[in-house]
Amino acid sequence: VTLRSRHIPSLETELMDAPSKVAIMALLAPGRRRACFLNAHCVNIARKDSAYRAAIGTAKYRLPDGVGIELAARMDGLHLAENLNGTDFIPKLLEKAAKMGKSVFLLGAKPGTAQLAAHRLQNDIPGLQIAGTANGYGDMSNEAALITRINESNADILLVALGVPHQETWLARHAQALTPSLLMGVGAFFDFYAG
Ligand code: UDP
Repeated sequence: VTLRSRHIPSLETELMDAPSKVAIMALLAPGRRRACFLNAHCVNIARKDSAYRAAIGTAKYRLPDGVGIELAARMDGLHLAENLNGTDFIPKLLEKAAKMGKSVFLLGAKPGTAQLAAHRLQNDIPGLQIAGTANGYGDMSNEAALITRINESNADILLVALGVPHQETWLARHAQALTPSLLMGVGAFFDFYAG
């Protein structure tokens, strides 16, 4: 479904309007893609930040996150099947990924947080393969080395928690160089999960 610029000035964008099960299959299907969550806060940032607007506009999928987006869609007469908010959606995505034998690399948040989130995710999701973790501060200082590390981990999925808009612009900038099939910004998910 297309959310029109009437309700989101300077951001007319396609939203994924599928139920979570369908969205997960699309994200994990063969092929390469970049995806992002879109909530009301993101929309406000997108109005002012053209690099972010371009990054979300060129992502293959925009997942509707939160009631603000749902209401904006409703004002356009559009029905969204499900709120695909990250805290519920990401564990479900990783459950399916684990069943499919796909591995995940967690990039972002403060030192130690991605590792702690990884341990907890492995506890909660049987068979989940963590390909690696890196923090969103010191580990970002050498981008070439970081990208090599991610690629050499052979991760199928790269989840990036650097906050909006940085995670989306970083992924858009490096999408060509990164080999994981699914590239996705996840905001404060590692903090939440490690919490
Ligand atoms: N973060 C990071 N490096 C930075 C700035 C932020 O790794 O240079 C992390 C931060 O530690 C947090 C995550 O980005 O884990 C998302 O933070 P925020 O709550 O701002 O995200 P939002 O949900 O607003 O996108």
